[in-house]
Amino acid sequence: MKCQNCGGKLKKVITNLPFKAEYDSIIIIKKLPVLQCENCSEYLIEDPVMEKVDNILCKVDKTAELEILSYAV
Ligand SMILES: [Zn+2]
Repeated sequence: MKCQNCGGKLKKVITNLPFKAEYDSIIIIKKLPVLQCENCSEYLIEDPVMEKVDNILCKVDKTAELEILSYAV
């Protein structure tokens, strides 16, 4: 797979990324596997990973302003 931004090579990396759950709530998901471009800072989240992220975001306590969760359960 290639970078949509620059056409560079995408590499699998494990990273921490912030997601917005509700308008005032930020969820940081740790140890998330993403594809990151070796050339620019663009990254891509694969569909199965995104589905799991959606599941995690559904279950989260939305009254918390900031929550830090781990992708790998
Ligand atoms: Zn790129």
